[in-house]
Amino acid sequence: DRHPEPQFEPDPTKKTLVILGTGWGSVALLKKLDTENYNVVVVSPRNYFLFTPLLPSCTTGTIEHRSIMEPVRTILRHKKAAVKFYEAEASSIDPDRKVIKIVDNSEIQGATSETEIPYDMLVIGVGAENATFGIPGVREHSCFLKEIGDAQQIRKKIMDCVETAAFKGQTSDEIDRLMHMVVVGGGPTGVEFAGELQDFFEEDIKKLVPEISPRFKVTLIEALPNVLPSFSKQLIDYTENTFREEKIDIKTKTMVKRVTDTTVEAEASRPDGGKERVVIPYGLLVWATGNAVRPIVKDLITKIPAQKDSRRGLAVNEYLVVQGTRDIWAIGDCAVAGYAPTAQVASQEGNFLGRLFNNMAKTENHESRIQELSSKMNLQAGNSAEAAHEIESLEKQLRRIKDIKPFRYSHQGSLAYIGSEKAVADVSWWNGNLATGGSLTYLFWRSAYLSMCFSTRNRVLVILDWLKSKAFGRDVSRE
Ligand code: FAD
Ligand code: NAD
Repeated sequence: DRHPEPQFEPDPTKKTLVILGTGWGSVALLKKLDTENYNVVVVSPRNYFLFTPLLPSCTTGTIEHRSIMEPVRTILRHKKAAVKFYEAEASSIDPDRKVIKIVDNSEIQGATSETEIPYDMLVIGVGAENATFGIPGVREHSCFLKEIGDAQQIRKKIMDCVETAAFKGQTSDEIDRLMHMVVVGGGPTGVEFAGELQDFFEEDIKKLVPEISPRFKVTLIEALPNVLPSFSKQLIDYTENTFREEKIDIKTKTMVKRVTDTTVEAEASRPDGGKERVVIPYGLLVWATGNAVRPIVKDLITKIPAQKDSRRGLAVNEYLVVQGTRDIWAIGDCAVAGYAPTAQVASQEGNFLGRLFNNMAKTENHESRIQELSSKMNLQAGNSAEAAHEIESLEKQLRRIKDIKPFRYSHQGSLAYIGSEKAVADVSWWNGNLATGGSLTYLFWRSAYLSMCFSTRNRVLVILDWLKSKAFGRDVSRE
């Protein structure tokens, strides 16, 4: 039987709201949205939300990856009205026809793996991809640290390097290379990963593979004169000093130009201002040089004349509407609203859109009720006092609802773990800024991230993982 199954029938009295992505922005929107007001459709190749701030801890097994994932279907189950979810990638957006094309790129595919979805309103929350700046060899030879799969791959590779270095008769040069873990990019991702790696070494590898452990080395390469450029000077110094104590080698003013399967080639600035070429052998290479624009966003930019100057993502106005469109909004890392690409910004933007859409639906309901009452009043003139009263009250509510202030980001602070149970924090404090680093900040970091975890289930799992790795050491078996 080749007849397609009956499709999800959208309610024709409601607008269809399509949301792309299940990351920080889209999930914050879904949490806030009164789904009964729209036909809501969510499209994402990932059927879960990922709590990225704890992803670096998954690379060494301090936290197990499933503890920081929350299935979308569980999130949607708690919504008042049903939301349709399709595990697929949106491959193109047609703003004229108001349809998106979606493709199932997963391992298992059915007879239908490509289709179109029409929308009345579209929210783009597809995030960003890893920047490589077209540097040769990066895609082929390094690991990124953005998705769960990346963290799993890194975890496997670290132990593969260690076990291969411990192989009978391994040459000395090869042991040094294999035990050399190189991180490119001194932003928070690179710094947190380097810190986690050093912890793993100090707390586990040293005990488990003592014969080769002195050869384990972590190097962090950064093109700028210092790491963590977005943190305050005092915390940059604190991080660099802590890394020195932890024996993490920081190579600043060093720009990676090429990567081979065993070496990183970089251009380093000498103190005299000259440049020198350095070749660094590595066992594991993690590439963390920030964000690049996803193809679907690049493609949409070319279709909207008002976006012709957009380079870093979709330019949006203060209500997060994509400039040059009326019914497309963008949030998070794929939107350019004048803020840093962080989870904090993405979730506040998603939350804002949730409130905005709830208000828009209420406005429409109120307006149609007012119209209904006024036509009734015209028909039965005698009985109009009650209706007039209701109209007055509705109009009053309407003025309040319609008065939606534009989006404004409220910065709660920046936090980063730097290894050896220390963290750095730039936190907004009264009207000023508080910069702190150390073990107390680490406790603050732990409790802050714990409180931000998506669900109680996630929170419990993360606590158990922390206790487990402390009590029994990290699990170094390679799956
Ligand atoms: P994402 O959360 O990346 O979500 C994008 C979603 O879109 C995903 O579900 C993806 O599968 C989906 N998608 C991709 N392509 C398509 C497509 N074609 N069609 C449909 N869906 C698609 N920020 C902080 O504020 N604090 C931190 O401590 C912090 N730590 C971090 C640690 C790491 C290791 C990393 C990598 C980032 C960290 N960030 C942190 C940054 C933060 O994770 C991002 O800014 C945030 O995820 C952006 O949210 P988003 O919704 O825009 O995108
Ligand atoms: P980033 O953009 O913050 O840092 C990338 C770094 O790589 C830059 O300092 C850049 O100078 C360097 N770089 C680029 N090309 C290079 C090259 N060829 N050789 C050497 N160095 C090179 O990237 P990120 O750390 O992945 O962070 C991305 C976003 O996510 C940021 O907005 C960040 O704030 C956020 N984030 C936040 C946290 C946190 O708050 N704890 C953690 C991770 C990520």
